[in-house]
Amino acid sequence: MWTYQHTHFKVHQIPALNDNYIYIIEDCQSDIVCIVDPAQAHIVQQACQTLGLTPTHILNTHHHWDHTDGNAELVQTYHCQVIGNQEDAKRIPCLSHPISANGSFTLGRLHIQHMDMPGHTLGHIAYKIDDALFCGDTLFGGGCGRLFEGTPQQMWQSLQTLANLSDTTQIYCAHEYTLPNLRFARAVDPHNKALKQRITRDTQTRIKKQPTIPSSIGLEKQTNPFLRPLNPAFIQAYNQENNTCFDALQVFTHLRERKNNW
Ligand code: ZN
Ligand code: FE
Repeated sequence: MWTYQHTHFKVHQIPALNDNYIYIIEDCQSDIVCIVDPAQAHIVQQACQTLGLTPTHILNTHHHWDHTDGNAELVQTYHCQVIGNQEDAKRIPCLSHPISANGSFTLGRLHIQHMDMPGHTLGHIAYKIDDALFCGDTLFGGGCGRLFEGTPQQMWQSLQTLANLSDTTQIYCAHEYTLPNLRFARAVDPHNKALKQRITRDTQTRIKKQPTIPSSIGLEKQTNPFLRPLNPAFIQAYNQENNTCFDALQVFTHLRERKNNW
């Protein structure tokens, strides 16, 4: 478990399943304790016991089982409330507080903003508290989520919403996919110095069995191919393959398809 101090709350990061991260958000000025995407209940229970915390809320980014499987047992144990997109009311287990895709609410001293992030699934949302972003399977270290339900255009718009957040925003995504993502990034963007440095650093981090997450919006904008489709290397490659006019969405779509078959 790793802990990060923010203004008046802490984020505890717990690895789960093969490569998932579950986050515990602890409001230091109230009893509010939010669990983001509990893949496994017993892992959350163990961590909360160690920390002396009682979960009060679950925040689900989307309905996939590796983000919601712990809901039922945590509700039973702690009687916590489950917050998620009202559009996925039938797909998120034990959802007790359906919310709209965009908006905000306050729990204790936590001011929680939520944003519509269609792409990976249609009902996917992200949560943001100050400079901490919980974006589930939308933006990953060096990559982005697969398009299971949404269109490339929806995902591109979602990613642009995130890219417009401040560079210092900390990205608490739901999977440790960074190294495989960066290998793809290097293949399509071989001359990117910031990317090379990141690969060296993140490789060392993983050798030490540390997380490469949280990342930041600033770092992703420099190194993540899915946030920079208009960089000269892609445009050149895309031009050679497709002798037509193009825009950022077309190049993004092309990159996303290429990664699927990589
Ligand atoms: Zn997912
Ligand atoms: Fe997932």
